[in-house]
Amino acid sequence: MTESAEVVVVGAGSAGCVVAGRLAAAGVHVLLFEAGPAQLPSSAVGLLPVGSRDEGLLRYGDEVAPGTVVGAARGGRVGGSSAVNGAYLLRARPGDFGPWPAGWTFESMSPYYERILLPRVRVPIEDMAPAGRSLLAAATAARVPVVSDLDEAEAPVAGPVTLNAARGLRVDTAAAYLGPGVDVREGRIVRRVRGRRRRAIGVETDAGPVAAELVVLCAGSVGTPRLLLRSGIGAARTVAELGAEPVVDLPGVGRGGTDHPEVTLPLALDPGPHDPSRPILEAVAHLVLPEGEVEIRPYTAPFGRAIGGVDDPVLRVGVAAMTSKQRAEVLGGAGVRVHRSGSDAALLAAGVASVRDLLPTRGEAVLGVPLHLCGTARMGDSDEAPADGAGRIRGVEGLYVADGSAVPVVPTRGPHATVIAVAERLSEVLLRG
Ligand SMILES: Cc1cc2nc3c(=O)[nH]c(=O)nc-3n(C[C@H](O)[C@H](O)[C@H](O)COP(=O)(O)OP(=O)(O)OC[C@H]3O[C@@H](n4cnc5c(N)ncnc54)[C@H](O)[C@@H]3O)c2cc1C
Repeated sequence: MTESAEVVVVGAGSAGCVVAGRLAAAGVHVLLFEAGPAQLPSSAVGLLPVGSRDEGLLRYGDEVAPGTVVGAARGGRVGGSSAVNGAYLLRARPGDFGPWPAGWTFESMSPYYERILLPRVRVPIEDMAPAGRSLLAAATAARVPVVSDLDEAEAPVAGPVTLNAARGLRVDTAAAYLGPGVDVREGRIVRRVRGRRRRAIGVETDAGPVAAELVVLCAGSVGTPRLLLRSGIGAARTVAELGAEPVVDLPGVGRGGTDHPEVTLPLALDPGPHDPSRPILEAVAHLVLPEGEVEIRPYTAPFGRAIGGVDDPVLRVGVAAMTSKQRAEVLGGAGVRVHRSGSDAALLAAGVASVRDLLPTRGEAVLGVPLHLCGTARMGDSDEAPADGAGRIRGVEGLYVADGSAVPVVPTRGPHATVIAVAERLSEVLLRG
């Protein structure tokens, strides 16, 4: 007998756990499919389990610079990227909502950020590692305002980051949202959305078909556009190259993604003994430069200590382009790959010059792997956006996106809080019907 549910949610990551949890709590029969294994017990917030020896990851190649493809990973188990990330949880700023669909403003999003079920903590300045303390002291000396709550202030500003953690452990959305009413099927890969006459009628999984009245894609900014393309939804040419049956010609699928490219440089500070319960980032500064906005990230431990299998004993400070001009495309072929075009070289160089004025650095800056990809199946008012302002995929009834891929443009803060707030709001839209 074919499995069935009122709603199928694909991907038990940051957003998928929110959507499945909220719908199930309202009495909807939801099946939540996750390609990767079951949830792990909460891990120490200072360890990022995305190294070569870690399991339960979605690995892909990222072309961080023309011709340079490096290995990258996102969460790939129940909890998704919220189970492996840095646990920095900050709201987007009012100006970030400019390109969003009508009705999506800072004010209208406020209740959804407040509804987030994750705990929020900040490390008091006096308890911070040398990296964070030095940044905040340097910011004060440079007359950059230092505030206690970064959600309340515009750049230029510095302060402690808000963290979704408790007692030194990361608290992910699986732990916060998945109650006994949620039917989670881990280890089940969704291959494509099944449709009839431009209506989603369920999904095809590696263990057979599943029928549903609504399908909500939460497979992340890499996984969601790939699923759409394999379901015949995307640029007609790309769909044809994949050998999929064309359903709707939506050229925006997989294209126009935005991220926070980052360079790091060695920080001439002693990190002290490694404490895995100490967050990898305790404080940041947001600087406004003529070239755009950057985030200064003084990491509290060398990546070689925080990420298993990484050979980097050097303490580093990151400089991230928060108003990046680069655009990302998720390629649809067999190997999962993200291609990037455009460059933020001028902005990143200006950011590096600023950080050298603030902190004791040495050596050259090296390019890292950006991990904040958003907007690869974005919501928007124009037909160029694959989804409308209710997360509905244009031209297909009963098919929604509600994860990082739907976020129109990556905000000028880390995207995690915004991804969850979007999932909260779209859950409400789905419940209203
Ligand atoms: C290492 C790392 C550190 C980060 N640090 C921060 C931070 O400190 N602060 C911040 O704001 N942001 C951070 N981010 C970004 C943030 O975590 C993500 O933007 C956010 O978690 C994305 O949520 P999502 O629901 O869109 O996708 P995800 O949480 O990635 O979930 C997608 C899920 O879908 C599953 N899936 C994919 N394809 C299929 C399929 N075909 N069938 C079934 N399941 C499928 C995946 O296995 C995964 O579990 C970080 C990201 C990473 C990777």
